[in-house]
Amino acid sequence: MFRAVLVANRGEIARRVFRACRGLGIRTIAVYSEADRDAAHVREADEAVLIGPAPARESYLAIDRILEAARRTGADAVHPGYGFLSENWRFAQACADAGITFIGPSPAAIQAMGDKSEARRLMAKAGVPVVPGTPGPISGIEEATQFGNAAGFPLLLKAAKGGGGIGMARVSAAGELAAAFAAATRRAAAAFGEGAVYVERYLERPRHVEVQVFGDSAGTVVHLHERDCSIQRRHQKLIEESPAPGLPAATKAGLTAAAVAGARAIGYVNAGTMEFLVEESGRLSFIEMNTRLQVEHPVTEEVTGLDLVVAQLRVAAGEALPWRQDEVAQRGAAIECRVYAEDPAKNFLPSPGTVSRLVLPEGEGIRVESGIVEGASVPVHYDPLLLKLVARGADRAEAVARLDRALEGCVVEGVRTTIPFVRRVLGDARFRAGSVHTQMIEQGAFRDA
Ligand code: ADP
Repeated sequence: MFRAVLVANRGEIARRVFRACRGLGIRTIAVYSEADRDAAHVREADEAVLIGPAPARESYLAIDRILEAARRTGADAVHPGYGFLSENWRFAQACADAGITFIGPSPAAIQAMGDKSEARRLMAKAGVPVVPGTPGPISGIEEATQFGNAAGFPLLLKAAKGGGGIGMARVSAAGELAAAFAAATRRAAAAFGEGAVYVERYLERPRHVEVQVFGDSAGTVVHLHERDCSIQRRHQKLIEESPAPGLPAATKAGLTAAAVAGARAIGYVNAGTMEFLVEESGRLSFIEMNTRLQVEHPVTEEVTGLDLVVAQLRVAAGEALPWRQDEVAQRGAAIECRVYAEDPAKNFLPSPGTVSRLVLPEGEGIRVESGIVEGASVPVHYDPLLLKLVARGADRAEAVARLDRALEGCVVEGVRTTIPFVRRVLGDARFRAGSVHTQMIEQGAFRDA
């Protein structure tokens, strides 16, 4: 096992990884930017290294500085968390070149899945159903027009190197294509350094259902069941749960089989997520693979009773997967909500500031993953996720009721948060009935009556 693990991240995920390391007797090393001098993850690590100024490009995204910190502190492995460098194949390669284990899949797997258009091609080849779309990035609007005329509108333009819901543009008719293509290309280039966009059919009111997969270096791949992440704002998840409510057994079987087949086809090692959209008809379509630990991994841990981060460390250290497929059971229900420093009344505008008061809930079946402490500042430079609340129950109704009570007892003052909005969703009759889709928020389903 590793002697010392450096976590190339901040906030709740850095603390989550540290916890797993401590359980295994591994020394923990934090890195931080000037904006994070007082951050919770810095205080908690055995050692912490200042790597640069606040802008992520000069700190949490600075590969050389992070590797230098690893060398100086004697870290023999790096955990990337999610976001930042977690899906950067060059970082994974640079770790390997420096003789440091990257806790995640191979650089080749990251690279293949990091190009979403290439991922679609590989998955289709492996027999995984994908959303109908163009076979690759488009060079101009002619290909998009042709595809739209054949397959029908609306379409969705997506950045090949996209992520975080950024750079997607819905096109309802051919006349909108030229402007949408120009804008999407520009936005993709600005956000991801590459302007390539491809086209998919825009699916109406699908659910987002994803499958947690896990592979080891001996070639074993298992799934850890599904998560429903349909409650999204701006194509970004706000609430996640497992099992997916009311998902027919046949659909679930199709999803897990496709996910495992897809991961096997690329020789996938470590934790990953195969994301799908599921239409009302039950048709499922692959959208992308995330080659890292997800924000929402705790709901899977709660229903399976397994520790995904410990397994990540073990598999990265060369051990075999600790579970056989038939040992991975899904029991009860779990639901997570993300508490962001955002103002729901202002279209989820980030609300940076200082957390002047913080009271975290406790209770039966409640798990808190927090990145903040009282008095901490929420910098403008990073993703404004403050904490996650996770509730487990014997069934969905119990988990939802517990989460709602936990939210009621959660006090975050000094910044606006998504808590009131999440509570409105949890109280909504359609949500309670498990009748969810990805476009509910933007269609105004949870607006004040
Ligand atoms: P990103 O990598 O930016 O997160 P994804 O491809 O994972 O983008 O899609 C994020 C979300 O956008 C999905 O969960 C879904 O809500 C929406 N979405 C993506 N593709 C489609 C599509 N073809 N039709 C309708 N909605 C889509």
